[in-house]
Amino acid sequence: MSSKLQYEFKRKLEELEKYKGRGTELITLYIPPDKNIADVASQLRSELSQASNIKSKQTRTNVMAGLEAILQRLKMYKKPPEHGMVIISGVVEVNGKQKHITEIIEPPEPVPLYKYHCDSSFYLEPLKEMLKEKDIYGLIVIDRREATVGILKGRRIEALSRATSMVPGKHRQGGQSSVRFERLREIAIHEFYKKVGEKATEALLPYKDQLLGILIGGPSPTKEEFYEGNYLHHELQKKVVGLFDVSYTDESGLYELVEKAEDVLQELDLMKEKRLMNRFLKEIAKDGLAAYGEEEVRKYIALGAVDTLLLSEDLRLERVKYRCPKCGKELEVTLRFKGESKQMCECGVEMEEVERRDIILELSELAESTGAKVEFLSTESEEGAMLYNAFGGIAAILRFKPD
Ligand SMILES: [Zn+2]
Repeated sequence: MSSKLQYEFKRKLEELEKYKGRGTELITLYIPPDKNIADVASQLRSELSQASNIKSKQTRTNVMAGLEAILQRLKMYKKPPEHGMVIISGVVEVNGKQKHITEIIEPPEPVPLYKYHCDSSFYLEPLKEMLKEKDIYGLIVIDRREATVGILKGRRIEALSRATSMVPGKHRQGGQSSVRFERLREIAIHEFYKKVGEKATEALLPYKDQLLGILIGGPSPTKEEFYEGNYLHHELQKKVVGLFDVSYTDESGLYELVEKAEDVLQELDLMKEKRLMNRFLKEIAKDGLAAYGEEEVRKYIALGAVDTLLLSEDLRLERVKYRCPKCGKELEVTLRFKGESKQMCECGVEMEEVERRDIILELSELAESTGAKVEFLSTESEEGAMLYNAFGGIAAILRFKPD
């Protein structure tokens, strides 16, 4: 998912997270892509008849209204959208007023479960999980009998391909010379590593630009032999970030591998922020290709000079557009989230607010339209915190510096 989509999705979830119901009356319905809509509708109708037994009148009324609203919406679908959908419905408080909302969310990744949930807040955990899925790692587990190749996307592990070997066991049969037996066994092992290398390359090479690293697991010395023998495509070989002792080499071995690599993975995640900030700081130190602060960065975006825009995820600013109702003059200012400001036009009339956008979205769209990359940094790494505290959360690495 593009970083902008991801960010929009995140803000949507933050908004939904704030809503609270008075009782257990907020409904969240997860529908995976392969679910039959008619089955969902019939379950909802049975929930509807059960809801009529709810004691509290207010909760009963609200739950029933929510279910009916969802059933109405479902009529528009013959089958779920490509990634499935999540429907939320309930009475929430908006600006001090009670309001019934029903929304359909088509998430950026497949809905992983079918679930009907009714509580005092919306159930958003599975959607939040999707947000974490921005980093991709390649996984290979191998011993001399079997190998499995997979991928780790956030928390989700997916097996992609598997290979088994014809390598004979350690014990030769009677009548074979031991030298000859060992020789044949070595050839078979080499052939197997070659096959695994090809399978892994086929499965992982399409991801090579997104892969943050590749983890190899297995017993010793197999995994070392496989790594040191350069059986992987060279683009993948250089992405290997660690070898780990793992006892299973089927799909469960992939899970074991990720568990063993936990510390390394966490470090790599923060490493990415570190690398970006170090690049920026180096340029700053020599007064080179870098800029920071909203005004500066805007200027360079407008000139098409930004290579990478660095934005702190913790920025809570909005870009607000005002228009004069009399002469039509327009003006844009940046305000704190939900902040208010009075703008007087030169013609003496107070201007009206006509548009308000999250600055992160506004700036990243602007930058992307000039071909710049946009990176969002957390404040969890030391460098990410520095971006926020020392550089106002908005910085850029430049392609060139116009005079
Ligand atoms: Zn005016």
